[in-house]
Amino acid sequence: MLKAENVRKVFGSTVVLDGVNLSVQPGEVVSILGSSGSGKSTLIRCINGLEKLDGGRITVDEFDVSKPRELAEARKRSGTVFQLFNLYPHMTALQNITLAPIQVLQQPKAEAERKARALLAQVGLGDRGDAYPAQLSGGQRQRVGICRALAMEPRYLLLDEVTSALDPEMTADVLGILADLARGGTTMVFVTHEIEFARQISNRIVFLDKGKLVVDLPTAAFFSAKGGMAVPRIAQFLSKMR
Ligand code: ATP
Ligand code: MG
Repeated sequence: MLKAENVRKVFGSTVVLDGVNLSVQPGEVVSILGSSGSGKSTLIRCINGLEKLDGGRITVDEFDVSKPRELAEARKRSGTVFQLFNLYPHMTALQNITLAPIQVLQQPKAEAERKARALLAQVGLGDRGDAYPAQLSGGQRQRVGICRALAMEPRYLLLDEVTSALDPEMTADVLGILADLARGGTTMVFVTHEIEFARQISNRIVFLDKGKLVVDLPTAAFFSAKGGMAVPRIAQFLSKMR
């Protein structure tokens, strides 16, 4: 289980995460919705150990991200794909994907490459392994980014607005891959502005407002009149998004 307990994060005098509790069970797809600046990316960065907590605790399975000795193991279990493509420009798609499995998991190069090629084929890029990021479209780069996270065989896949820099066609492309992964049982924490898509693939939806997690509901309940829609802040948010 991935678990955030009473998480607090402060930047200067701004409380960015204020007592956030969230747990994600293996096999679940949980979407995180909320306005710009509500703390979604910060929460993902805290789960990934990229930001130090100012309070509370985050564990990935039994590994505590705030304990230096446990962070590497926690990170290995929570693969992350970010909003902006962060591929190494001087490495091919295949090299980007195999870097961590070879260096961190100590996979033999041939095995890492075989697995990377299988992942690329799975996202429709079987013939682009030798391409450099600059030779790929935005959507293709983001699919390579997803492969790179999956190559570490994470138990939890964290996705922070992975389609927000893409045009509608590329977005559809990447969302198709994520839907396949969700159907295949990949556990996902999905930060998105793609409300309809979140509705289709999520088991649960959580809503962040000014650093507070205001609702955590099964998807159908979130969108129902008596559930999430009964919360004025959420009704307002959803009406603006559509
Ligand atoms: P968006 O939908 O625009 O991506 P978000 O929900 O991901 O927004 P965050 O990026 O988590 O929001 O930011 C939450 C708040 O924390 C914002 O007010 C932001 O300005 C602030 N913040 C984030 N990172 C830092 C930082 N490194 N230093 C100072 N303030 C920060
Ligand atoms: Mg963000």
